[in-house]
Amino acid sequence: MGKDDGVLAGAIEAGGTKFVCAVGTGPDDISRAELPTRGDPAQVLSRVTGWLRQQERVRGKINAVGMGCFGPIDLNRESPTYGSILSTPKPNWTNFDIVGTVQNAFPNVPIGFDTDVNAAALGEYYWGNARGLEDFVYITIGTGIGAGGMSGGHLLHGLSHPEMGHIMLPRVPGDTFEGVCPFHGACWEGLCSGPALLRRAGSPAEVLPADHECWSVQAQYIGYAIANIVCILSPKRVIIGGSVQKAGNLGSERFFQMIRERVRESLKGYIVVPELEEGIDGFIVPPVLGDTAGICGALSLAIRARDRL
Ligand code: ZN
Repeated sequence: MGKDDGVLAGAIEAGGTKFVCAVGTGPDDISRAELPTRGDPAQVLSRVTGWLRQQERVRGKINAVGMGCFGPIDLNRESPTYGSILSTPKPNWTNFDIVGTVQNAFPNVPIGFDTDVNAAALGEYYWGNARGLEDFVYITIGTGIGAGGMSGGHLLHGLSHPEMGHIMLPRVPGDTFEGVCPFHGACWEGLCSGPALLRRAGSPAEVLPADHECWSVQAQYIGYAIANIVCILSPKRVIIGGSVQKAGNLGSERFFQMIRERVRESLKGYIVVPELEEGIDGFIVPPVLGDTAGICGALSLAIRARDRL
């Protein structure tokens, strides 16, 4: 018996440009649709919940809904605004009660809600490269940089949710790029996201030549960041997803090798565990779920919400 037996889950991946919705029991049993984020939030959610209801006619009753959402969001269950989107540059979405809206459409159904990266992390925990691990970090490097994961079997939360993409890093010697983060300039996201790479290199990651110097700079900053994360959270594995890790003409495999080397160089042998030495190929890895990480993550949030009843 798998963890997901018996739960027909509705999944919502709420993104800045589109909402992906799905109904299913796991990655191999999923029907999905993509709906644009444009328009009034209430209208967008009405289309989303309408699609889920329509699927119920085919698949039967949905008994949990999971939602991975762009941030910042209020995840504090004690807060009066739990389940709302906090300040965001997206018009009309600030303070929108996204969980309440879905709950109204699905009364008495448990709703799992978390950041899009914690959702993706949980998906890897159920079905991917974090199976059996209760301490791991999932990083996505794409339009922005986000990270989530687990510590002691709990998805990472606290004051709010982690914002590891905005940590400050030492400068790669000679690098004067000002960064693209609207808040911090040259934070990790400002230096290494897809838009940062585009600005730095003048062309998108997918078409950059394999020997372009930006790959080395990119790997160095990611190496610094992962070394910091290893020192702070002591994860048993680090999964890197998102579009940038595919590394265009360089290829994911070579890019991961560069990142692993930089992590080891940054740590300088201080943390003595096999995972950071001969086992590093299995310590820093791509996700299993790949491009479906977001929607499978939302599905896993639903299953977890149901399991915890
Ligand atoms: Zn920043």
